[in-house]
Amino acid sequence: MKIAVGAMLYEGNTFARGETGLAAFQSNYLFEGAEILERLIDGDVEVSGALKVLQASGATIVPLIATHGGCGGKLVAGCFEELCSRLLSRMDCDVDGVYLALHGAMVCADEPEPEVALMQRIRELVGSVPIVVTLDLHAHITPKLLSLCDAIVGYQHYPHDDAFETGVRGASLLLQSLGGRARLTSRMRKLSLLVPPTTAGTRLPTPMREMYRQCRSLEGLPGILAVSYFPSTPWAERPDGGTAFVVVTDGTAVDVETHLEKLCTVLWRSRSRFQPDVHLLEDVISLTAHDIAGPVIVSEMSDAVGAGAAGDSAYILEKFKHSAVQTPVLIQIVDPEVSALARRYGVGSRISCVIGNKVENRYGEPVELTAEVLSFFDGAFTYSGGLMSGIRATVGPSAVIRARNITILVTDRPAYEYADEQYAAAGLNVREFQYVVVKNPMNFQQVYAWAPKRFGLDTPGAGRADLTKLEWESCQRPFYPLDDSEEAIYRST
Ligand SMILES: [Zn+2]
Repeated sequence: MKIAVGAMLYEGNTFARGETGLAAFQSNYLFEGAEILERLIDGDVEVSGALKVLQASGATIVPLIATHGGCGGKLVAGCFEELCSRLLSRMDCDVDGVYLALHGAMVCADEPEPEVALMQRIRELVGSVPIVVTLDLHAHITPKLLSLCDAIVGYQHYPHDDAFETGVRGASLLLQSLGGRARLTSRMRKLSLLVPPTTAGTRLPTPMREMYRQCRSLEGLPGILAVSYFPSTPWAERPDGGTAFVVVTDGTAVDVETHLEKLCTVLWRSRSRFQPDVHLLEDVISLTAHDIAGPVIVSEMSDAVGAGAAGDSAYILEKFKHSAVQTPVLIQIVDPEVSALARRYGVGSRISCVIGNKVENRYGEPVELTAEVLSFFDGAFTYSGGLMSGIRATVGPSAVIRARNITILVTDRPAYEYADEQYAAAGLNVREFQYVVVKNPMNFQQVYAWAPKRFGLDTPGAGRADLTKLEWESCQRPFYPLDDSEEAIYRST
């Protein structure tokens, strides 16, 4: 048996001004052909899980490309085509099946439905052989995408610490199909409901935790092989945006529609619980002004690179600069100009600069600053968990500078943060600061659970948690939370 294996993931944000090119894929991981087997076989990503299962079955692997570009604004024109042609050029038209890991929320300057376009081209090459696709649970599922795959399976966990297991599940479904034990059949329903990822963690007491339980219990029923939820990323705006459920069966008669209806109804009834718990920095400061035990973790989630924002907001820096806070504050800002300036003047020098909001200039202004250059950092770090666990990545040549009580890690380029890997790799111990600004939509609640206090901030930005404050353009009304109804509102499927 010959099975093609590949991965091409990227999460886009249509509210962000930044653009992403091939370099972002190279900064995370981009392996081609046999390199995939060498570099990912012992990894934690989807392809690692799929390879373990497929190799154990004795299948011959046809490695395509495996890459993750992280999150950001649109992919620049030509980037998607470049990745597609690298992937498709390695496709063997005689394969017996295809396993592919995609994100499902790619946004491109020159292709409105990238995942659909890729799958159409793969189908044309391989014909009707089984294709199983695994997706991030922030994927946008459409009937068209589903029709091009035999089965779609999503991450079960948010934070995403189950990429490997998702690869295992996807590849196992493919083997069941190839062995004649299942005729994979996938059905979906989609609510006209957008939820902020900030309140949709599957380990926190959120409605998604309840959905996790319900999906797992359905998977125990005869004929049902996989049940996935896709709350999607609200920050990659689509006309038919919403939360989808997908049920994969073995082809035997199962009343899938009733199960889908029930899942949708339960989630719709919980919609008000997705209201984000966010605060103004001024309120957080007055609430914590007399706290001795630190650090207080404040998440400027609207600028989270993991949400597709540029990571270059200086909004909170400006607020701290003009606040009465005298205790040590730690912030991270992407600004290649300031990083280069600091490196030019050297450790111990004082620099005057304007920092931040150079890419994302829609939501804030650059901030004037005089700062001391403390140290440099080559940018290399290793993800300590999540969907890129164990992957060596980089934020590029970076500098640590300090203005009064505010220490700033100034990086050359954005990279998704799982925990404090980037601060730690720069030699910064978050425990030594009173206020630590992270740019993390939801995960900070768990990875910083040890910290005495944690707050999400209500700040402007491309990853704003309060969805009612975003400038929507194309998402068709009605949709929750902009519109409401006692009866569930559905997208047509
Ligand atoms: Zn995700």
